[in-house]
Amino acid sequence: MEHSCREHYGIFTIAGDLPIQGAYRDICYQPVRDNIWTASEGIYRTIFLEGKTGCIAFDTFGTPGTARAYQAAIGRVFPTKPIHTIVYSHDHLDHTGYAADLAPEAKIIAHDYANRVILGRKSDGQLAASETFAGERTSHEIDGCYFELIYPGPTHGDGNTAAYFPHSKTLFMVDTVADGVGYTTLMDWHLTHYVPVMERFLALDWDLFVPGHFWLLTRARFIEILDYWKRLFDFGQQAVIDGLDPHNWADLNRYTDEKLGPLYGREFRFQEYAAMNLSRYMQHYLTGGWGIEGNLSPRLGPL
Ligand SMILES: [Zn+2]
Repeated sequence: MEHSCREHYGIFTIAGDLPIQGAYRDICYQPVRDNIWTASEGIYRTIFLEGKTGCIAFDTFGTPGTARAYQAAIGRVFPTKPIHTIVYSHDHLDHTGYAADLAPEAKIIAHDYANRVILGRKSDGQLAASETFAGERTSHEIDGCYFELIYPGPTHGDGNTAAYFPHSKTLFMVDTVADGVGYTTLMDWHLTHYVPVMERFLALDWDLFVPGHFWLLTRARFIEILDYWKRLFDFGQQAVIDGLDPHNWADLNRYTDEKLGPLYGREFRFQEYAAMNLSRYMQHYLTGGWGIEGNLSPRLGPL
């Protein structure tokens, strides 16, 4: 049955218009280093590159309206350089769901794992990759832009890939490290792998990290945030041992205020997320973790 929404509708099945899909969000942008720029609508963040003849956009933002605003933002900075290439960070629709609205003719690069999910999902507006790569590390020289794509192992979603710019000492990766204490609540966050896999990036030479949410981070801050998540493994186990119920939000909030508050209470979005994070980590120990990847040993060592 044909969907009646005039916009690309993702995986929504309810009939009728979905005004949220077309809603306009202003995108702000700023230079990062060399040919790297960053764009954000306030919560989500991504990067785009200036090539000799056109632009390379990473990700698409999460609705047709924001994808169009992203295209307009790039067009404002580089009005004569169309987006000829899109690179996907991972499979999730809120970051890569709308290439059909951003630049439908562009070449799309993604890790094979992400593309397999995308092919299976068939979400309206999310285009499949035209070029995939397997394994951990590939280098690209496109229209004068050099970057490496690095899949360090399972972290969040499928095929989640970093972009490394060795000449600019800059690393970009989505939904893994962001400032504050939010976001490890999703089920396809591969907790067993997450911290050791992310620590592999510390063997590379970079001092600026561009995350998929909020603002840019120093290398020192990247390490501090990973340390918080590392500590939560112990807190998660201890909470189970202390008899805390992972479904009781009042008790979870009391527990995190008391045990984590003195150390991390001033972190960005602690009040919103601390209890959810703890519940997620507790579930890991109660269930054994999710999926095949979540239960294989992480592959470590140099990337
Ligand atoms: Zn995601």
